[in-house]
Amino acid sequence: MKRVIIVRYAEIFLKGKNRGYFERSFVMNMEKSLRGIKHEIRRASGRYLVENVEEEEIEGVISRLQKVFGTHSLSVAYVVDSDLEQIKEAAKRICKQRGTFKVETHRADKSFSMNSMEFSAWLGGELLASFPSLRVDVHSPDFVVNVDIRENGKTMVFGEFLPGAGGMPVGTAGRGLLLISGGIDSPVAGHMIAKRGMKLECLHFHSYPYTNLQAREKVEELVKALSAYNGGDIKMHCISVTHIQECIHKNCTEDYMITLLRRFMMRISERLALSIGCQCLITGESLGQVASQTIEGMTSSNSVIKTLPVLRPLCGFDKNEIIERSRAIGTYETSILPYEDCCTVFLPKFPVTKPKLKDVLEEEGKLDVEGLIAEAMASLETIEL
Ligand code: ATP
Ligand code: MG
Repeated sequence: MKRVIIVRYAEIFLKGKNRGYFERSFVMNMEKSLRGIKHEIRRASGRYLVENVEEEEIEGVISRLQKVFGTHSLSVAYVVDSDLEQIKEAAKRICKQRGTFKVETHRADKSFSMNSMEFSAWLGGELLASFPSLRVDVHSPDFVVNVDIRENGKTMVFGEFLPGAGGMPVGTAGRGLLLISGGIDSPVAGHMIAKRGMKLECLHFHSYPYTNLQAREKVEELVKALSAYNGGDIKMHCISVTHIQECIHKNCTEDYMITLLRRFMMRISERLALSIGCQCLITGESLGQVASQTIEGMTSSNSVIKTLPVLRPLCGFDKNEIIERSRAIGTYETSILPYEDCCTVFLPKFPVTKPKLKDVLEEEGKLDVEGLIAEAMASLETIEL
């Protein structure tokens, strides 16, 4: 018996005039996420059908589509001719053996012999006869047998509504540059913004050779995991801050290492973003989580930004909430691998928690800021994942 995947879309639906544009982005993202798997996507009365998928690929297709933003829910449906016997056979396949259930019928084909109510009652009776341990409960059933009698002489029969990723199709809300470390927070921040339809590019700062290649591979893994949510591809930019950290270490008061490094990172990020057409920066900062993420710390790092907004979607989250999301999106296990981040190189024992701009500027005055930025920009490497 042939099966198809029904994909229902989410908020896109609300977008009136722009709906065509949103839907095209949505379909393109679905197509990219299914690259390498045989399938056909077809629009059918306000939703999409993914057809001609090999039986053994169906689960894989579902799990890929569950990462495509814009999806409200998915179901795997049997498609049969609109014939009572065939519909009953399909319903028996998705029906559980015990528990309570109801039949929900939607009848687009008004020429069908029974109306929706009559059909649900008939099919319910047939299922009860086949599975004696079943009971009907129309108010809060354990499961629902859904029957969709289409106009084209075909009927779809399905059970569960699997949750989709929600959000908006990636690519419909501009482009942002995610500052990604190897930690737990930044991938979660990227995921949240991609969910609102923004296409991500990633920027990672490393301190090679103080940080090793495994640290870099770990970040690549995280970026790859994000690409599944990012319309199937993602760019990763890598920039060395080794010399910047060495110069801070040599010339400035130890406690200002992170404060000063963050200001370099923000300046470099904004320049890169502007040069590659990204419209904002995204960080995984959370208010008060560590010394550099106090409001004073953020003021210090934010004050070097000239034009772009800096999105900090995790600002109001507790660490355990971030961890929960990180598990749900599948980045947690990689994030906790124990490789060093550049921020942990030359880590001060007592980082300033409330830097005063006057002091920061005094420390920074000991450095050739422009020269160091230019040098860092020249180390840029970009890969596509
Ligand atoms: P994360 O878990 O994302 O590493 P964190 O709690 O360790 O965050 P910090 O190390 O203070 O916090 O970093 C705050 C934010 O700054 C990160 O979420 C990320 O957006 C950015 N960031 C930190 N280190 C790097 C890096 N090496 N490359 C790029 N961005 C970085
Ligand atoms: Mg970190």
